[in-house]
Amino acid sequence: MVSRSLKSVWHPCTQMQHHSTTPLVPVSHGRGAWLYAADGKRYLDAISSWWVNLFGHANPRINAQLKDQLDKLEHAMLAGFTHEPVVRLSEELSAKTGNVLGHCFYASDGASAVEIALKMSFHAWRNGGHAAKEEFVCLKGSYHGETIGALAVTDIDLFRDAYSPLVKRAHVVMSPDARDARDGETAADVARRAAAALEALLQHRAQHIAAVIVEPLVQCATGMAMHDPIYLSEVRALCDRYQVHLIFDEIAVGCGRSGTFFASEQAISSDGTPVSPDLVCLSKGISGGYLPLSLVMATEPIYQAFYDADTRRGFLHSHSYTGNPLACRAALATLQIFEEDDVLTENRRRAQRITAALEPLANHAKVRHFRQRGMIWAFDAAVDDPGAAADFSRRFFAKALESELLLRPIGATVYLMPPYILDDAECDLLTARTAEVFESVMQDG
Ligand SMILES: *Cc1c(COP(=O)(O)O)cnc(C)c1O
Repeated sequence: MVSRSLKSVWHPCTQMQHHSTTPLVPVSHGRGAWLYAADGKRYLDAISSWWVNLFGHANPRINAQLKDQLDKLEHAMLAGFTHEPVVRLSEELSAKTGNVLGHCFYASDGASAVEIALKMSFHAWRNGGHAAKEEFVCLKGSYHGETIGALAVTDIDLFRDAYSPLVKRAHVVMSPDARDARDGETAADVARRAAAALEALLQHRAQHIAAVIVEPLVQCATGMAMHDPIYLSEVRALCDRYQVHLIFDEIAVGCGRSGTFFASEQAISSDGTPVSPDLVCLSKGISGGYLPLSLVMATEPIYQAFYDADTRRGFLHSHSYTGNPLACRAALATLQIFEEDDVLTENRRRAQRITAALEPLANHAKVRHFRQRGMIWAFDAAVDDPGAAADFSRRFFAKALESELLLRPIGATVYLMPPYILDDAECDLLTARTAEVFESVMQDG
């Protein structure tokens, strides 16, 4: 089976030639936090299958709702038609923002949500008579997806360089990454310095800029770069002052991953209210890791900018599976688990246990910048050049599999992003084995 699939399936983010020596792991089924291979081996899914799986595999509660939905309505087009799952999901999500972001536009993957947000921002300005606002700003090291439009605001060389002639690049400004603190600087100081760099750009370019896109609190794909929440309040104030939209990409950090449902809830503006963007993108965990679903939530002023008798002033974007009822129902089941199990509170308890158990690793001589936010832990292995980092990542992944862990470092950055269902024994197994794998990889290296 493995060799056949090697010919026919072209795997994502993969140099296929590497699999001439490293076999793929053929998964036969999943249950809770565990994936089971056809040969009987099991793996603790410590990165939630690329950050999507929140409540485990084959979750009985999500399964039950999907089975019920399957017998009612699998799909109907969302132009001219509507259905209960998409209405309920939109209302529940809007309510979580106090209805400030009260309009939900749907797609199926994160990159499409990012493209929707960019198009919406540009078109909203154009409808308002500001057609010159056609540029975007992203952070150094940002990742917002890999379609051609999303690559415009993605600043990761590996993903962008090969395609750069196709891409209309955004302005890239300093990241508030707390690891960049100079001597004597706090994380908040770095955040203020990064905000000042953004202001320097806006001062002379704002009339051409539609939006700034930020992944709040943790820039995940670049290697779990964490920043102080004050950055978000500063950027909100700048966007207001210079008349630029603020897009929060909560595709990875949303849905409780950062400790609150939306990461932005942890940033407070000068008037004491949580920082709120003009547009927010959600995907990944929103369907519990079951089905492709993404959405963009927009404020009333943005919605109103399109509300008109003229079709061409409407938002011109559609996907065949927009608002798919099965995916929306999986999302509703996911939100229900958040409520019924008081998941955010339970995760704080889990996080304390995991952080405490990782303390020896945090203090390890070959570990740099141990960091944590909500249900994300990360640290950088002391390996020096990029070649060594890629080699470290591959060896760590292989060793972790031998220890029943699915962990996939980003270069030299090891991170944990487990599902929100680990019991105490699973937390302890994860932390103890992560430390063992690290020790063994560093000794071999
Ligand atoms: C994964 C991710 C995306 C892209 O989502 P896809 O569904 O993979 O297209 C965009 N932004 C962030 C922050 C992500 O983590």
